Amino acid sequence: MKRKGTLFVVCGPSGVGKGTVCKELLKVKPEIGLSISATTRERRKGETEGVSYYFIDRNEFEDMIESDELLEYAEVYGNLYGTPKKYVLEQLNKGYDIILEIDTQGAMQIKEKYPKGVFVFLLPPSMEELRNRIVTRGRDSKDNIEKRLKCANEEIDFISEYDYYIINDDLTGAVNSLVSIIEAERCKVKNDICKLIKMYKEEI
Ligand code: 5GP
Repeated sequence: MKRKGTLFVVCGPSGVGKGTVCKELLKVKPEIGLSISATTRERRKGETEGVSYYFIDRNEFEDMIESDELLEYAEVYGNLYGTPKKYVLEQLNKGYDIILEIDTQGAMQIKEKYPKGVFVFLLPPSMEELRNRIVTRGRDSKDNIEKRLKCANEEIDFISEYDYYIINDDLTGAVNSLVSIIEAERCKVKNDICKLIKMYKEEI
């Protein structure tokens, strides 16, 4: 039986740099598929439809929920975000690894439905540094900054649900850690027992 791909779920508080780490990862590991989420939030400057997200309205999003097209979805800071099921399942069935960059609520839904996934939590070097990053990015009001930090605090309560953590204190180091995790998962004996027995037992 052909080995299925591995589903990697990268999670972590807003502002920790999940998007940047995943983008850099794809330069090193272009064979990994990045799932493009659907969202009801407004498109930001520099974002491209179908590349950054599928930007849809609430009615369309609700239709997707209704017709069971989403693997998971969550409301994050007033907007809906979800992972379209079709692409992810097709790729995994073809044996390709997939990465999802989503929030904790979504990660916990995936864990319920797909416990074989590999769950990675990206952490800031400190909460103070997370605050600096959110402030420097300049996208949020004072109120929103406090909301994001409070959420980050709550998200960290779920850390025991994850398989790996990475402290994102420098981009190259964080990407290298993620590459190491992916490579370690690809060398897990339990994922390849049939293949290994077939390859080596026949030759003895
Ligand atoms: P942003 O609006 O800054 O791009 O993303 C806000 C948050 O939504 C981030 O924490 C991001 O990881 C999360 N997010 C993006 N796509 C999805 C998704 O498909 N599902 C869930 N649950 N969260 C998502």
